[in-house]
Amino acid sequence: MTKFIFVTGGVVSSLGKGLTSASIGTILERRGLRIRLQKLDPYLNVDPGTMSPYQHGEVYVLDDGAETDLDLGHYERFTHSPLSRDSNYTSGRIYQRVIEKERQGKYLGGTVQVVPHVTDEIKASIRRLAGPDVDVVITELGGTVGDIEGLPFLEAIRQLPLDVGKSNCLFVHLTLVPYLRAARELKTKPTQHSVQQLREIGIQPDVLIVRCERPLGRDNEEKIALFCNVEHKAVIEEIDKEFSIYEVPVGLVEHGLDQLIVEKLGLKAGPSDMDDWEELVRRIRNPEHEVTIAVVGKYIEHRDAYKSIYEALDHAGLAHSARVIVKRLEAEELERQSPETLLSGVDGILVPGGFGIRGVEGKVRTIQFARENQIPYFGICLGMQAAVIEFARNVAGLPGAHSTEFAADTPYPVICLLEDQKTVTTKGGTMRLGAQPCVLADHSLAAQTYGLPEVSERHRHRYEFNPEFRNPLVSAGMSLSGTSPDGKLVEIVEIPDHPWFLAVQFHPEFKSKPMQPHPLFVGFVGAAMARRKNERSQPQPV
Ligand code: GLN
Repeated sequence: MTKFIFVTGGVVSSLGKGLTSASIGTILERRGLRIRLQKLDPYLNVDPGTMSPYQHGEVYVLDDGAETDLDLGHYERFTHSPLSRDSNYTSGRIYQRVIEKERQGKYLGGTVQVVPHVTDEIKASIRRLAGPDVDVVITELGGTVGDIEGLPFLEAIRQLPLDVGKSNCLFVHLTLVPYLRAARELKTKPTQHSVQQLREIGIQPDVLIVRCERPLGRDNEEKIALFCNVEHKAVIEEIDKEFSIYEVPVGLVEHGLDQLIVEKLGLKAGPSDMDDWEELVRRIRNPEHEVTIAVVGKYIEHRDAYKSIYEALDHAGLAHSARVIVKRLEAEELERQSPETLLSGVDGILVPGGFGIRGVEGKVRTIQFARENQIPYFGICLGMQAAVIEFARNVAGLPGAHSTEFAADTPYPVICLLEDQKTVTTKGGTMRLGAQPCVLADHSLAAQTYGLPEVSERHRHRYEFNPEFRNPLVSAGMSLSGTSPDGKLVEIVEIPDHPWFLAVQFHPEFKSKPMQPHPLFVGFVGAAMARRKNERSQPQPV
C-alpha cells in the first residue's frame, strides 16, 4: 500500500518547500524506500511553459517533454524518483480536464462543482502516482496557505485520508520563525497563525518543519508544539544552510525526520545510509580551487531564471574540487560596455537559452570575445544559435547573418524555424520538446567529452541551424559534431581551432546531478580551470 506525504507551506513564500520536499525524498530513499515526487501548482496556466522566467524562474523540461516547475529540477537532482507529466499539475490543467469531461457529457447532466468534481480530479492526479512499486508519494503544494487559488488543493488533500485511510497519510507543514533583531527574539506567532489557518480548513499537520536563521531552542519548540497541537519531536528545525542546498537532507536526518516519518507512517525501512551525501557536503565545504564563469543572459537578475545551469556548474566544480564563482552578466550590458571591461578575469563564458531579441547582440559580442581570446565557451540553445550567428558574420563572411526569430528579412538566415514548427500557431507545449537522440561525430570534442557515440538530451526550441548554411560554415572552420540520427538537425557545433568552444541546441543542464555531474559541464569547467592556471603562470607585465 502506497503512503502519502503532503507538504504545504505557510507564513511566507520562497521558504524552500521544493528543496524540503526533495530532501524528504532523499532521506526516505536513503532508508531503502521507493518514492515518487509531485508538485501541484495553484495558478491557472496549464503549465509553466508559457510563463516568463521573471514569474517563477526557469521552466524545467522532462524527458517526456513536459514543461514543468523548477522544483522538479530539485526532485531530479536529489532523488531517483521517475518524473513525467503526472509529476506536475496546475489548477489550469485540472480545470481543463474537468471542462473537457463536462463537454464530453461525462458528468451525466450533473452540476459541475469545485467539490466534488475539481477535488476528485486533484485526488485522482495524486493517486495516479501510487502503485505496487511505490512506497511513498510526496506531494508538494505550491503557494502559501491562505491563498484563494490553493483552496481546492487543500480541500482535496483534506479529503484524501478519508479515501485511503488516515494512517496512510502524513501532513508536513513548512513555516518560518523569524528573528526580530530589535527584540532579540525568535517569533513563533506567524507559525501559530499559519497552522491555525490549516486547521480551519480541516488539516492538522503531523510534522512542522521550521525554517529559522538561528537555532530554535527547546522553549520555542515546546511552545510551537503546544500551540500548534503537534508532538514536540515533530517540530523539526531547518536552519539556514551556510554553504549549499545539498546540506538540507543531512540536517533533516540529524533532526530525526526520516525516523519520525517511518514511525508515523508505519513504513518498513532499512537503516539510513547518508554516507555519500555527507561526503558530498564535506567536498562542498572544502574546495581546493576556484574558477570564475561568466553567465551572460537575459534574465540575470532573477535568482532562479537559470537555476539548473547554476546547479550544473556547481556539480562540475565539485568534480574538479573547485568552487565555481558565477559572474552573472546582463547581455544588454555587453551592448553598452566593452567585453574587455565586463569579461576581464573570467575563466570561461556560458551563454544560456532564451527567447526574444533583447540582449541578442550583446550575446553575439560576448561570443566573439570568447572565440577571439581563446576563452572556453559553452553555448546552450540560444547560446548555440548566437554562436552560429557570430561565426557566420565574423568568420564565414556572411554580414548581417541572423536568426529569423529576430530578423525575418536577414540576407543570411543561418538560424530558421524548424520545418514542423511552420504550421504551429498555438503557444504552450508546442515547441520541439523533451528527450531526443543525438549522434556524435568521431573524434569531436563532444564525443571525447561524453565518451559515448550517441546521447539523449532534452530540448525546448522552435528554431534550428539552417541546413542551407552547413557548407559555408563548415568551410570556414565550424564543425557540426552532433546531429539527429537522420543527420538532418544540427544539435552541436564546435570550433576545433579553439581550446574549448562547444555549443548545443539542447539543455544538458537538466540532466546534471551532484553525484553525476554532466560531462559537458565537467569538460567546460575543466577547460576554464586549465586556462586560469595557464594565465596565472604567465609572467605579468610590470
Ligand atoms: N528562441 C530560440 C528557439 O526557440 C532558443 C530557445 C531556447 O534557448 N530555449 O529556438
